[in-house]
Amino acid sequence: MATEPITVHAIINGEKIKTEKTIQRENPTHPEEIVGYAPNNTKEETIQAIDAAFNAFKSGAWSDVNERIDRMKRAIQKLKDATDEIAELLSREHGKALYDAKGEIAISIMWMEFACDHVKKVVTPEMKEHENGKTIITFDPIGVVSAITPWNYPISLSTIKIAPALLTGNTMVLKPSPFAPLAVSRVTELIADEFPPGVLNLVNGGAEVGIELTSNPKVAKIAFTGGTNTAKHIMKAASETIKKMTLELGGNDAAIVLEDFDVNDERALRRMVISNFLTAGQICMIAKRVYVHRSIYDAFVEKYIEAANKWIRVGDPFHPDVTIGPVNNKNQVEYVKSLIEDAKNKGAKVIPLGKVLHPELMDNGYFLQPTLVLGADYHDPIVVEEQFGPTVPILPFDDEEQVIELHNESIYGLTSSVWGEEEHAIRVARRIEAGTTMINTAAVQGLDVRFPFGGVKQSGVGREYGEEGLKSYTETHVINIPKSLELPYIPE
Ligand code: NAD
Repeated sequence: MATEPITVHAIINGEKIKTEKTIQRENPTHPEEIVGYAPNNTKEETIQAIDAAFNAFKSGAWSDVNERIDRMKRAIQKLKDATDEIAELLSREHGKALYDAKGEIAISIMWMEFACDHVKKVVTPEMKEHENGKTIITFDPIGVVSAITPWNYPISLSTIKIAPALLTGNTMVLKPSPFAPLAVSRVTELIADEFPPGVLNLVNGGAEVGIELTSNPKVAKIAFTGGTNTAKHIMKAASETIKKMTLELGGNDAAIVLEDFDVNDERALRRMVISNFLTAGQICMIAKRVYVHRSIYDAFVEKYIEAANKWIRVGDPFHPDVTIGPVNNKNQVEYVKSLIEDAKNKGAKVIPLGKVLHPELMDNGYFLQPTLVLGADYHDPIVVEEQFGPTVPILPFDDEEQVIELHNESIYGLTSSVWGEEEHAIRVARRIEAGTTMINTAAVQGLDVRFPFGGVKQSGVGREYGEEGLKSYTETHVINIPKSLELPYIPE
C-alpha cells in the first residue's frame, strides 16, 4: 500500500529548517516507492546545530532534574500515542516487520521510563564525612553530546542516548543514518518539542555531518552506535579535543550449544531460530555463528531446520504472518550474498530456510531468503565476519576448551549465548569475553534495559542502559574539605 512520501526536517534551536538538498529513502520491499525525504544537511548547518546546543547548555535554563523528568514523561506519552503511526513509517522505510517495529518502540519506551525513574538517584550528590574531613561528590552534565546512530534500530538506538543525555542535563545534536532517517526524525521532533530550544537538535546526512559532529571543539561527548571501522575514524577525529565517548560497535556474537542441550525442546529451538533471524539478521546482538557439541550436532541441525521452516516466514512486513521482511539496503544484500557465495565456493553447503509467503516480492525488493551454512571452516569469512543479514553458519566443536578459544579469538565481544543445562552454561559463560552473555536465549529476548549493555574488545567502549548508562552522561566532581589544613609532607 503506497502512501504519499513524507518530508522530515532538521531541528536547530527549536526551529524546523528546510534544506535544498535532500536524502531520498526508498521502501526496501518495493524500492520504486519513495517513503520520504530527509534533509541532507551541510557542515554549516551542523555547526549551527552544535552552537545551538552549546548555548542552550551554557544558559543552564533547564537545570532542574524534576523539570527534566516531567518534560521527558510528556514526550514518552506522545510517543505512546503515536506508536502505531511511527511503527508503520519505520516498517516502510526500514523493511522490518510491523510487529518488530512496534517492539522497537516498546523497548525505547521501557528504557526512557527506566531513565526517568532512576536519574535522580544517579545525579544526587553524595556527602561523605570521614576522618580527614568532608567530601562532596557531584555528578554534573558534560555539555554538548553528539549522538550518531545506525539504521538497524534507529529509534531505540537514538532514544538510548537522548533520554539519559537530556535527563542528566546535557544538550544534544543527533544524526541518524541516511538508511532509515524518517521515523526517528519524527520521534526526535516530538521529544524536542517538550524541551527548550537548542536542547535537542537534529541533523541528517552522511560522513560530512558526522565528521563535524565528532571534531567540533564545542562537542564534549560522542555517543556512537555503528560499525567498528567508522568508530576508528571517530576516535581519530575526537582525539584533537579529547572528547568523552561511548561506542557501541559491531559484533560477531556466538551461540554455544552444549552437549546437555535438549534438541527436542521446541520452545528453545524457536527462541534460537527467531534470535538468529530477527530483523532479517540485522541486529548487533544476535548469534552470527553457532557452535554445537559434536555429540548432538546432527540431531541439532535436523531440529533447527524443522524449527526454522516453521517459524521463519518471509514476505511483506505488513502481513500479520510474516516474521522477516527484506534487508534494509542493496549494499547489505550484496555483502551478505558475497559471504554466502564465498562459503559455497569453498565447499560449504547452503540450505534455504523458512517459507517465502510472497514470492512475487523477492526479486524486486531487497529480499534474501534466510540460509543455513554447514561445513564452513572455522576461519572462513562467513564465520569470522559480522554478516549482518539472514544467514548463519553452524559448526561442530569437540570440547569446551576448543569452543571457548574459538569464541574468544574474535576481535569482537558484544554479546553471546550459551545453551544447555543452566549451571553448566553459566560455568562456560563466565569464561567468555563479551559484554553480555545470555543463557538459553539470545538477542532482544535476553536484553534487560535495567542492566548495562556494551561490548568488550573492538565491540565498544563504555556501556549504555542501566544506571551505568545514565551515569556515562555525567562528570564526577569531587569537592574535598579537609579537617586539617596542615601540609604534613612538606618541610617547613
Ligand atoms: P555505520 O558505521 O556505517 O554508520 C553509523 C552512523 O555513522 C551513520 O549515521 C553514518 O552516517 C555515520 N558515519 C559514517 N561515517 C562517519 C564518520 N566518518 N564520522 C562520523 N559518523 C559517520 O554503521 P551502520 O551500517 O549504519 O550500522 C551497522 C553497524 O552498526 C554494524 O556493525 C552493527 O553491529 C553496529 N551496531 C552496533 C550496535 C551495538 O549496540 N553495539 C547496535 C546496532 C548496530
